[in-house]
Amino acid sequence: MLGIMSIPVNRFAVRAAVIGVTTLTVGACARHAAGAAAPSGGQSVVIVSIDGFRADYLDTMDPPHLRALAAAGVRARWLQPAMPTLTFPNHYTIVTGLYPAHHGIVNNHIADPDGAWFHYNDSLEVRESRWWEGEPIWVTAERQGLRTGAFFWVGSEAAIEGVRPTFYKHYDERVPGAARVDTVLAWLARADTLRVRLALLYFSAVDHAAHDSGPGSPDARGAVMGVDSAIGRLVGGIAALGLADRVNVIVVSDHGMAPTNAQRVVVLDDYLDPSAFEVASISPFLALRPKNGNVPAALAALRRVPHLAVFPRDSTPERWHYRGNPRIADIVGVLDEGWVAGTREYFARRPPRAHGGEHGYDENAPSMRALFVAAGPAFRRGALAAPFGNVHLYDLVCAILGLTPAPNDGSLDSVRTLLR
Ligand code: AMP
Ligand code: ZN
Ligand code: ZN
Repeated sequence: MLGIMSIPVNRFAVRAAVIGVTTLTVGACARHAAGAAAPSGGQSVVIVSIDGFRADYLDTMDPPHLRALAAAGVRARWLQPAMPTLTFPNHYTIVTGLYPAHHGIVNNHIADPDGAWFHYNDSLEVRESRWWEGEPIWVTAERQGLRTGAFFWVGSEAAIEGVRPTFYKHYDERVPGAARVDTVLAWLARADTLRVRLALLYFSAVDHAAHDSGPGSPDARGAVMGVDSAIGRLVGGIAALGLADRVNVIVVSDHGMAPTNAQRVVVLDDYLDPSAFEVASISPFLALRPKNGNVPAALAALRRVPHLAVFPRDSTPERWHYRGNPRIADIVGVLDEGWVAGTREYFARRPPRAHGGEHGYDENAPSMRALFVAAGPAFRRGALAAPFGNVHLYDLVCAILGLTPAPNDGSLDSVRTLLR
């Protein structure tokens, strides 16, 4: 049983844990659907994720390469994230078209009813196929004869349904953005049968900077501009390779970011005994199990905590689609936008920041709105689209690549207007 402070509820511990992991180029795997021949023509897709890029940064920070991409293609007013508005659940929703309750990655930290724990910063656990339900798009593509490559993506290190991307990397955030981009360009440009038709690319710098210094901070702006130059390198590289009429670039984020401060802080010990709970996560998204099994009493105690909404596991708001998976905790909760919670002991070790940022709030909080910009031969030019849910991206990419999608929660009809 894990006590309240034994789970890293804080990303700073997480970052330290990631340092030291080496980056390997994991070679081509030979697991292809028997008899499937890789089509030689057709379009390609690069899906880029900028972790934590809030929709409005495109206007308030004016990153030149992303703006140019939006002008050449289509931009949505925002991309609606799924609940919980956390990194692992949403990245895996983007590539499966499934809500987190339907794809199994229900939180960044998960207690399985059989006693196993998933922690997103555990480099071995993320490779375990048992956690990853549903079918990510690289599995769909590989099975239908298209090569794929992921320079980091949630789930890409695990053999899901026995399949990995042809090229993938073990997560290591020290790899410079330019090196990630150049590798993806090389995959797209291959002249042999390993030419990649679907590439995935991931950047964490914007999320990190805004957690540390706040979403409107000079650091966050610097990170946005840094990732924007990597996008410029990607788009320029595609053009220089003569692939601009064949390759589509889709840039998304997993969620936005709310400003936090040292005043909007809830100390849980003031309302309940934190040691009475087994904790998967606390703030801003709460997932708890009362150690004595008395859920009604625990809910009653938690309802006294200000700025916190709590629900028993199968009574979360219907619009969250967050029900029905045994990995969802007995008690689920969410703090009001911009508030943080923790125990007295936790805040003694890590005092609340004067200016920081958090996500994990309700999916309808304006600060949680995510990014969607896309350009290429499949997309309309110069269009501004209405907001849409990230569950529809799987069907969208399947349509561009000519793939038959696996059953999922999205629909092509919701996003067809983005296409030419
Ligand atoms: P959070 O903001 O706490 O929801 O999580 C963001 C963190 O997830 C980033 O700081 C990354 O370091 C980490 N992360 C993102 N993708 C991966 C991955 N594929 N494997 C391991 N960690 C990842
Ligand atoms: Zn994230
Ligand atoms: Zn984050």
